[in-house]
Amino acid sequence: MTKIVTIEPLLVRVGIRNQLLIKVTTEDGIIGWGESGLSARERSVAATVSHFSDFLVGQDSRRISRIWQECYRSQYFEGGRVLTAAMSAIDIALHDILGKRLGVPVYQLLGGKQRDAVPSFASCMGESRDELLEKARILVNAGWDCIRIYPSNFDNGGVYDPRRSLKGTAEELIAIRNEFGQSIALGIDLHHRLSVAEAASFCHMLPQGTLDFLEEPIRAETPEAYAALRTMVDVPFAIGEEFSSKWEAARYLEAGLTQFMRLDICNIGGFTEAMKVAGWCERHYVDLMPHNPLGPVCTAASIHMAAAVPNFSWIETRQSVVESDLGFHDPKIFPKQVQMDGPVYVVPDGPGLGVEVDEKAARAVTPEHVEPPHLRRSDGSVTNW
Ligand SMILES: [Mg+2]
Repeated sequence: MTKIVTIEPLLVRVGIRNQLLIKVTTEDGIIGWGESGLSARERSVAATVSHFSDFLVGQDSRRISRIWQECYRSQYFEGGRVLTAAMSAIDIALHDILGKRLGVPVYQLLGGKQRDAVPSFASCMGESRDELLEKARILVNAGWDCIRIYPSNFDNGGVYDPRRSLKGTAEELIAIRNEFGQSIALGIDLHHRLSVAEAASFCHMLPQGTLDFLEEPIRAETPEAYAALRTMVDVPFAIGEEFSSKWEAARYLEAGLTQFMRLDICNIGGFTEAMKVAGWCERHYVDLMPHNPLGPVCTAASIHMAAAVPNFSWIETRQSVVESDLGFHDPKIFPKQVQMDGPVYVVPDGPGLGVEVDEKAARAVTPEHVEPPHLRRSDGSVTNW
């Protein structure tokens, strides 16, 4: 009665973006939910899920780690973000099913919980420095002790010009640090848009102690580029949301090139792969800082993982008091989901992930494709979103 009978992708419009959910059903009627993290390329992931479904239907849903291996290695050309995003969603759904089958929360399948609450960091941005500071005050007053900002002129009519943005961004960070002193942790996400030289110049605009973490100043394909940047700056790096395997993460960990692991459980390969990376991080005294920009299934999976690992800092939240209008956690579509208590997530103790999907509400809107902005520099050349 434990065999998989269907694996279905469900593209859902939630707030301003789409979420690709994966619904796995077993022959005794247990339903598990997973989510893919490859935002904006959902059609590719859904097609991959269809391939995997061809050989997973009929398999024992409890053989989760073996299923991971078969999905990763069966097409000869192993790995890659599209494949691992699909595998992540299936792996999360199978953990949801096993938890429900055994009547235990998913964290029990991972060794039990290390903590009862999972602290989050909140993001903020403003049209002006005054607006940014006001949002930071709202967050600190609401209890957040870790804040991340985005660069100023983040998307100026589709143009991002690093040299024009960085000076204002540095001034904003200094203003926040001056206002709150060392009572909060402060970071910035540069969305891997800079060159090594630009990233170094930016850090040199900041007095020592301004930043607690520098998130993805440059793209992550080349660890040697981060090694070059490390010779010029001393700020801890937060890297990893684009990793799609333990092998990618290992290159950074073993070279000491990330001090916070930003892994995304919906991209790296689900619980099966994320827990291996977490163990590798523990060996290097690196704390997880999970990427969590999606919906309630991603959040719940991340919270169960965060509960079960010893090495943890903050999880990203898109549900803070200054971002709650994004709508990614719409309770009409997700009537049951992990709850926040101020700046922390309360670890759910019910069976499985602790998320319910109202499929009727989810299917009520036909989602149209959402393409992210194709940013350019002021000379017309391409830069990263
Ligand atoms: Mg990021």
